[in-house]
Amino acid sequence: MLEKDVDFAVYRKITPTKEGYFGTYGCAYIPPELAEEFEKISTAYQTICQSSRFISELRRIRKEFQGRPTPTYHCERLSNSIGNCQIYLKREDLNHTGAHKLNHCMGEGLLAKYLGKKKIIAETGAGQHGVALATAAAFFGLECDIYMGEVDIAKQAPNVARMKLLGARVIPVSHGLKTLKEAVDAAFEAYMKEHETAMYCIGSVVGPHPFPLMVRDFQMVVGIEAREQFLEMTGNLPDAVVACVGGGSNAAGMMTPFLNDPVELYGVEPLGRGPGVGEHAASLTYGTEGIMHGFKSIMLQDENGEPAPVYSVASGLDYPSVGPEHAYLRDLGRVKYVTASDDEAIDAFFALSRLEGIIPALESAHAVAYAMKLAKEMGTGSILVNCSGRGDKDLEYVLERYGDRLDK
Ligand SMILES: *Cc1c(COP(=O)(O)O)cnc(C)c1O
Repeated sequence: MLEKDVDFAVYRKITPTKEGYFGTYGCAYIPPELAEEFEKISTAYQTICQSSRFISELRRIRKEFQGRPTPTYHCERLSNSIGNCQIYLKREDLNHTGAHKLNHCMGEGLLAKYLGKKKIIAETGAGQHGVALATAAAFFGLECDIYMGEVDIAKQAPNVARMKLLGARVIPVSHGLKTLKEAVDAAFEAYMKEHETAMYCIGSVVGPHPFPLMVRDFQMVVGIEAREQFLEMTGNLPDAVVACVGGGSNAAGMMTPFLNDPVELYGVEPLGRGPGVGEHAASLTYGTEGIMHGFKSIMLQDENGEPAPVYSVASGLDYPSVGPEHAYLRDLGRVKYVTASDDEAIDAFFALSRLEGIIPALESAHAVAYAMKLAKEMGTGSILVNCSGRGDKDLEYVLERYGDRLDK
């Protein structure tokens, strides 16, 4: 949550340098025309997160519009099917729009309003960030331009329809491979032209400073709620906290409030079909240091420093880099970054659905899969998992490929 929040003193989050470095990662590698604009965003953010009006407005939105707090839930049947270790879920699938992304989109929308902007701009790959941002735009009465590759538009018809229904313009990007990478470039170009009236909204703890910091702070509500709820339910802290890592926003939000606790933290990257180039998106596991999309981090890249091809069964996880704070937390040894494959995620998707009546997003199923493995290893104790979203969006895909499992 934000600086002035009541219980904030309990948590110790990492403050990047003024330039936006977490250790040696982060900063803002952007054209000089935009440096000033990002500086303005940074200053405005520092101001509003001290402002009680902004904080109470965000609180009201979270409660009345998003339906927060989301519950924390004890998965008894899933736990018993494995052994004695108890698995708990933070239910971000019950956040409005069905995932955690709205947490930072509402914060970004409120900031755009404060800055007097008329429009918010972003790119989207699978459409999840686009839908969450279009929702925020509708709420705040802002225009919303979403850049999307033509290939993705064809694949993601329901999300394209949702964005349009919510009043956003979906702008097709038709050059190159016509997917996320080209959409990022197109959205950035548009922002260069329109930065006086528009704000660029990033969809994870990635991109130039101050976005990794801001998005994390907006997402911290997840971990703060979960920590309090877990303490209230069990009288203790969990032994381990697990979250999936694409860009790293749901993981950062969940883990930051536990950084100062004697709790093991695990970030789960998508291993896809295996460790070969283009078969996975496990950036921290297989990547190297580099700069792309305006920030320095660990990334999957080719010999020219261009983003390498990535793949995961979960489209929200197939990003070739990871937020700079995660790279730093890995170097510090505070968070362990592990992997789950497509097959493991699909198994967890079916297990959670059958044993608990919760259909998780395929992204979240990666975290559940690792938690199931860890529960077996630990034998006793407790694990808190961030269920970052619901799986309705994935049903068609799963049924097409794994539908034969329904009758088993
Ligand atoms: C987008 C998405 C993710 C991955 O993004 P992070 O920034 O790594 O959290 C995970 N889960 C769901 C449900 C998503 O929509």
